[in-house]
Formats: sequence, structure tokens, C-alpha cells
Amino acid sequence: MTKEEARQRIAALSEELERHNYNYYILAKPTISDYEFDMKLEELARLEHEFPEFLSPSSPTQRVGGGITKEFKSVKHRYPMLSLSNSYSKEDIEDFINRLKKSIDEDVEFCCELKFDGLSISLQYENGVLARAVTRGDGTQGDDVTTNVKTIRTVPLKLQGDYPPFFEMRGEIVMPYESFDKLNEQRVEAGDDLFANPRNAAAGTLKLQDSKEVARRRLDNYCYYMMMDGLEDHYQTHYESLQAAKKWGFNVSNYMAICKSVEEIFDFINYWDEARHQLPFAIDGIVLKVNSYKQQQALGFTAKSPKWAIAYKFKAEEVETELQSVDFQVGRHGTITPVANLAPVLLAGTTVKRATLNNEDFIRQFDLHYGDTVTVVKGGEIIPKIIGINFDKRQAGALPVEFVKTCPACGAELIQHEGEAAWYCPNAQGCPPQVKGRIEHFISRKAMNIESLGEGKIEFLYDAGLIKNAADLYDLTYDKLFGLSNDKVSFKEKTAQNIIDALEKSKTVPFERVLFALGIRNVGEVVAKTIVAEYHDIDAIMKASVEELSAINTVGEVIAMSVKAFFENPVNLNIVERLKAAGLQFAKAEEPTSDKPQVLAGKTFVVSGVFAHYSRDGIKAAIEAHGGKNSSSISGKTDYVLAGDNMGPEKRKKAEALGVPIISETDFEQMIGSSNQETKRKEDPKQQLSLF
Ligand SMILES: [Zn+2]
Repeated sequence: MTKEEARQRIAALSEELERHNYNYYILAKPTISDYEFDMKLEELARLEHEFPEFLSPSSPTQRVGGGITKEFKSVKHRYPMLSLSNSYSKEDIEDFINRLKKSIDEDVEFCCELKFDGLSISLQYENGVLARAVTRGDGTQGDDVTTNVKTIRTVPLKLQGDYPPFFEMRGEIVMPYESFDKLNEQRVEAGDDLFANPRNAAAGTLKLQDSKEVARRRLDNYCYYMMMDGLEDHYQTHYESLQAAKKWGFNVSNYMAICKSVEEIFDFINYWDEARHQLPFAIDGIVLKVNSYKQQQALGFTAKSPKWAIAYKFKAEEVETELQSVDFQVGRHGTITPVANLAPVLLAGTTVKRATLNNEDFIRQFDLHYGDTVTVVKGGEIIPKIIGINFDKRQAGALPVEFVKTCPACGAELIQHEGEAAWYCPNAQGCPPQVKGRIEHFISRKAMNIESLGEGKIEFLYDAGLIKNAADLYDLTYDKLFGLSNDKVSFKEKTAQNIIDALEKSKTVPFERVLFALGIRNVGEVVAKTIVAEYHDIDAIMKASVEELSAINTVGEVIAMSVKAFFENPVNLNIVERLKAAGLQFAKAEEPTSDKPQVLAGKTFVVSGVFAHYSRDGIKAAIEAHGGKNSSSISGKTDYVLAGDNMGPEKRKKAEALGVPIISETDFEQMIGSSNQETKRKEDPKQQLSLF
């Protein structure tokens, strides 16, 4: 391929992929399969790699992330980012309308929109290309987060149609509930603090240094205002400009209404106060904007906010109750979490008895006292949260809530890591909840899955002095267990035997789950899998440097350092040695021995295209099950190219040039005697685009 051909192909692919992205994410009407999309993206990435001079900052390949922002540059806003004044009642809205009617002597239309509960962003476009994305900051200047924002699928990198050469779009970056739940699940696994709500999670995500991680977290963006010098010469109304912006590629909410009276406005508000619970993301109110630009200009601004717009905030579901006491819980990594015990109260349909207090800063910020009457809310949050205190109801002589200085479980003096608000109990080996927590994690379903042992039994065996770590489990015998009992658990014949059997069975649990079971800080299920894919056995992982580990895709420096720290601790090394001796899997399984006839032994295949009976992984698995090998690129060593529908033209050309036979799915099925239903699995069509 000549340079010129590459340039043209890169331009064509970029344009096509951006259009498909728009069809998929903005219109929700994809016109090609995920597979075809991935293939085109792969081709583009390959060409850009080969011809880096043609890599554009707005290339669709930028959406998978990769750029690292060490420090976010502070940037001055061209138009200040103001906030809206809030209103909470029909009277407030009536006042607002009466006030503006004093300055405007004609009919006023209002554009009613959802008030997204995320963080505002300024998107600047130059000649149709996203030039810069800046956070609100203090309203005058914010942080340049362009690299991270480029990974958001609903932010157009390149516009289409008749857009103006220079303008700015204002929008809100939100984290959909689905992404939020997934993220918090992963954090539970990794032993990290949970995000309280999607807004905090979105804000935290946007300030990550590693844009790949931002890409994975699946943020979303909705645009709701356009800014440009002389905008009113092009469009008469705000609504019109947003509809135009939609055509250029922006994600503009469909849930908008033009209202002319307080009644119409309140129909919209009341509808969404109810219907918001069905939305896939959080909103916390409605925004009213005067629709006509001419009228907006006549109204102008106060120092803080426009006079032509107002937010109506939904009432949070909140309730007052008494703070009775505070528990300090110790996690398996030693983190101390304060939890409020509340007088039971009904909130949003459930009885609430506890609320998280996050950490010491949180308690200080509210100056919490025992017996305080606190306001508890349940919004998008999973755990109810205290948002305020009714100081009028504070009892005389009430004692302030003090964060503990020593571990409530073992008495060790607590420590704090630099730059973190959390306190830790450093007594990892002697602190009962930490020790028990680690063993409970070890036996949990996604780890070693030793179901017949549960929390109660672990507690009993720990108290009885029989287990102090995971390795001790494998020293248990039927004779040691049989007959043990207290008022909660008893080890009868069957119980004891089941436990011994389950422990024996756990010796076949694959390495990746064993690695996860070890309970290394920040190493969740997915990370464990990723590491095992790179390293064959535990010795290789232990030998790997922090640099080597962090070079693995998706494993950052923080994880790499946790892994290193874990294996530098002699206590952990001893446990690993004993688990090894007990017969657990500490190496990747050899290629699964197959009961299939090894008819493809010694043959190398390159798979391309879409198949009728197999997913792409499925057909590769079938090749391996019959003794064949898979390769990703065609070379002189390739024996067959196995082609499905839509095979890449480049691949076909190359195969023909090298004289490699191209065979069909039917040919393949004949080769292997086709009866291998179990390896066939069609991929879920609703799966997100996998991008590589
Ligand atoms: Zn402790």
C-alpha cells in the first residue's frame, strides 16, 4: 500500500466508523454488525500504526483510550460556566415567570428539559473537530479533560453536516446506572470504597489519569446548550439550535417539551417526577429555559446565573431520624468503615436502620453528635446516606462522634495512608475480622467456591483455633471436624464429609480463580484473569517487576504495586507455599486434553468473517479441540484460511497472494466430522461493541 492509498483508506474508514458510532449510540439504529465494526476498527488501528503520520486526534480509535493525563491543565472558559438558580415549588416557578414577564411584553415559550445529575462539560469544536473538553471548575476556568472525554461514545469527535466553524456545546456527563452498578461491584471485589452515587462516580472517572480505564467505565453525555458568537443570527430559538446539533452528531435528549403556561410546565414536571425512576440514568429535576434567543438576550444575567433559566429540583426521598450509635467495621484489607445505626424509619418503601458515614472527614464535616436528628436520603445511592443534621433538635450535653483511634476488633493503633481519608488497622495477621474476612473471601463462590463452609463455620473454626489462614483449611481432616459443635453450628458426619470433599474438589479450581482467592488488594476477578493470561504460573507472577505487571493491558501501576507488596510479605509467601503443597492449581492448565479426534494436528488456521454455526471464539475453540492451532495473521506458515461471511478483503488478497487455501465453514465441518454442538455458541447480539 502506498502512502497515498493509506491516507485515503484511513480517511474513509474514520469517516465510516464515526458514522456507525452515531447510528449506534445516538440514533440507536446500527446498520452493521458489531463484528464488522470491530474489523473496520481493527484495520484502521493497524493502518494508523503503520502510518502514524496519518493518525488524527479525532480518529475513532481514540475512543478505546490509551492516553495518560499526568496533570489536568487549567483552562479559562471562553464563556463563563454559570449555574442555574434553583426552585422547589410551583410558587417558585410562578415567581420566576412573573419576574421575567416584567421585562418582556410578549408571549414567552419555555423549553422544558431533564436536569441530568452528572457534571457539566464544555465541548469546544473547531472546524467540526472536538478541540477541547473542559470541566466547569469554578465557572471561570476548569480542567482540560479532552483525552478522557474522547472515550465517551456519545461525544462526537468529528461532526457531520453544516455545522458552524467555531462553537461550544454544553452538556452533562453522566454515568448510567448499569455502568455504576458494575463499577461498584468490581470495587467490592477489589476491596475498594464504593462510590456513593453515579454523579460522584462520573466525576471521579473523568479525573482518572488512564483514559483506558475511563473508556471501560462507559460514561455518557447529553448536550443541552449551544454557545457561539452571533448564534441568534442563525437560530431563533434554543430548541431549534439543539435540533440542528443533533443532526451534526450530538446526543440531545428526546425528552423535551415546549410549554407556554405554568400548568403545562407542571404537567411535564409531575410526569418526570414519577417517570424518572424508569430512566437508565439519574436526573434530579427539570430545567426551564426561555426558548427565544431574542428574549434570552433581553433578560440577561445576574452575576451567577442566567435570568432566562431556572432549575426545578425534585424532592429527594428523605426522612429525619435519630442517630443512635456508630459501629466501626473492619474490612478484610483492614479499612475501618463507620456505619450509623439509626432509629428504624420508612424511606422510599424500605425500612432503613443503617447509613454509611464513609470516613472520618465525613463525620467531621457534619460535626455529628450521638442522638442527633439526621436527614437520610436514598437517591441513586445503594446505601442510604446522611445529608444533614437538624441542629435545633440537638440535645444538651450530646457527645460528638469521635473516630476511633484504635482498632475496635484487635486494639491496634490505626494508621492512615498518605492522601487517603480512610483509616486502617495495620494488624493484618492478628486482627480477627481481617483474618476471617480473607478466609471468607477465599471460600466465596467466585473464588474457591467451597460452599459447604460458610461464615458461621469459618467463625467457629477460627475461634476454635483450627484455622488462621486459607492454608490451614487444607490441614482439616474428617476426624478433626467431626463432633465439633456450639449453639450455632455442629459438624455432624455429613457436614464434616461435605467439607472435606469440597476442599478436595477445590484443588481443581483453575489458577486464575486461585489467584483471585488469595485476596490481593485491588486484584478482582477480572484483573486476576488478565494477569494469568499473561503469566503462566505463580512463580512468573512473583518474579515480574512492577513495570512489567503494569505494562499488561488494564493492569495499572496501583494494581501492580499491590501484587508486588503481597508477594514480598513472607507470611503470604508461606501461605502460597502451603497451598501449593496441598495441591491447588498455581499454573495455567495445559491445553485442555480433548476427546475429539486430533484431525487438525499440526495445521494452522486463520479465522476471518462471521459464521453461521459458531461464534468467532467458538470456531477457534473447535479448531483447538481437534488439535489445530489459531493464528491472527496470514503468513507462509498458514495452512488454511477459514472464511465466514464478510471476510476482510485484505485478508482474502493476502491469502490468494500466498496461495493459502481458503475454506468455508462447511468445508471445516466436514474436516472435523461436524458433530461438535457443545463448542457452538452465538454471541449475545446485545453485547457492547468489543473494540478489539
Ligand atoms: Zn484490627
